[in-house]
Amino acid sequence: MITNIKDLEQYEGKTVRLQGWVANKRTGKGLVFLVLRDGSGYCQCVVSEEQVSNETFETAKRATQESSLQLSGAVIKDERQVGGYEIQVQEINILQETVDYPISNKEHGVDFLIENRHLWLRSRKQWAIMRIRNSVKYAIYTFFHERGFIQIDSPIFTGNAAEGTTTLFETDYYGQPAYLAQTGQLYGEAAAMAHGKVYTFGPTFRAEKSKTRRHLSEFWMIEPEMAFYDLDMDMDLIEDFIRYIVTDTYKNCKQELEILERDTALFENIGKKFPRITYDEAVQILRGERDVNGKNSIETLRDDLNEIAQRIGDIKEEISTREATIQQAGVKAGVKNFNQAKVDNLKNELRDLEEKQRNIPQWIDSALNFTHGDDFGGSDETVITRLFNTPIMVYKWPAAIKAFYMKRDEQDSEYVKGVDCLAPEGFGEIVGGSQREEDIDLLLARIKEHQLPEEVFNWYIDLRRYGSVPHSGFGLGFERLIMWLTNVPHIRETIPFPRYYGRLFP
Ligand code: ATP
Ligand code: MG
Repeated sequence: MITNIKDLEQYEGKTVRLQGWVANKRTGKGLVFLVLRDGSGYCQCVVSEEQVSNETFETAKRATQESSLQLSGAVIKDERQVGGYEIQVQEINILQETVDYPISNKEHGVDFLIENRHLWLRSRKQWAIMRIRNSVKYAIYTFFHERGFIQIDSPIFTGNAAEGTTTLFETDYYGQPAYLAQTGQLYGEAAAMAHGKVYTFGPTFRAEKSKTRRHLSEFWMIEPEMAFYDLDMDMDLIEDFIRYIVTDTYKNCKQELEILERDTALFENIGKKFPRITYDEAVQILRGERDVNGKNSIETLRDDLNEIAQRIGDIKEEISTREATIQQAGVKAGVKNFNQAKVDNLKNELRDLEEKQRNIPQWIDSALNFTHGDDFGGSDETVITRLFNTPIMVYKWPAAIKAFYMKRDEQDSEYVKGVDCLAPEGFGEIVGGSQREEDIDLLLARIKEHQLPEEVFNWYIDLRRYGSVPHSGFGLGFERLIMWLTNVPHIRETIPFPRYYGRLFP
């Protein structure tokens, strides 16, 4: 029988058989330490020359990184190990000896890693991210299921463009143009009139012809749509939903978050009410005209710059000290490797900080010169959310920059009842939602204003023709959510095989 590493605690003191791959290997005097990974977890397996046959010890020495193998050994409790257990190996059988595995345990450039995404998925951090993705997906289904929502699948081939055609992928559909869905919303609205509360959860496609760290061409979106909900109820749901997911992740993904060294402040603050501010207020905050809890956006950025400069100085000093140690005559291999690994890490940190040092002055510039009526850019969202430690809701947006289906504000017809939810710690937008226009004449007028072809929306307009009711919904970008939860710097690490501008393989 084969045991999974995740179940080792049930076998303390017993002998088990494991199968998997060598994630890492170290050798000492008369000892080989193999870190085995089997998909369910990681575990250190110790092979001692004194306790195994010569043949087994030789086999252990031959086991290179990513060799596949089976082994048997005794399960020993060891608090210091990840997972809390260690295997005292008795026998090893190599299935395949791997030669020259391309990804070593030293630092690699991200371009190289993404070219090798099919292998990179095996690395510990990537493993942790995908497991969190899986856990969150399950939590999403649970959240909606428990609240009586019906899951509805919207089509991927669509004949109409919900928000204009500039970001659509066009395909040939039996001689007729069709577009890959950029949202399932309009279909969600139809389904909400049949079931009351529904949600779609599927892939969506946007031709985002620019390389940013938060845009993919293919991403998954969760889109609830609720009959008889107004914007306030919509915002309440967004808040409950995000709080539920974050809390669930904290509870069920402890090990993964530890691997990712995720700062836990997010999880500690998630119980607090999410501030709701209007677009106009957000503009003032961005420009530094309004403080948040005594913090000013522009001053905060300037403080960041000073801190970064300080840290850069410290890092440079540490690098030169460590490099001097490495260069010393007669330095031991262990000391050398230890210092080299530190230097590699420091250089990565340095690169990130220098990028920030170049960016922040531009962010300050863009914030100070922001024009009321414009949409916030990525950096603007970063600046605003930097001041908060919970997600925030920005509502009441200028109509001119939002989609045709959003309901106008009754008091202020230049504005719509839309909301964006922005994640804290500088992450920015993760949700876009709104109350929808339920009046047929107003909706027709909007379609004209936005110069959209009325014919393709006939079926959608029917929803306002037959028993129209107030209704609302939102779209949450699944990968944006995972990016925030795992705190990875680029969205491409949050999906197994990312598709973004310029990338189609592997
Ligand atoms: P952004 O301004 O960041 O491009 P958007 O305003 O185009 O986003 P919506 O149309 O409101 O976004 O889509 C709903 C949600 O889908 C967004 O809040 C975001 O979480 C996610 N999203 C949108 N575009 C992308 C993309 N290209 N890659 C990944 N997620 C996306
Ligand atoms: Mg967009």
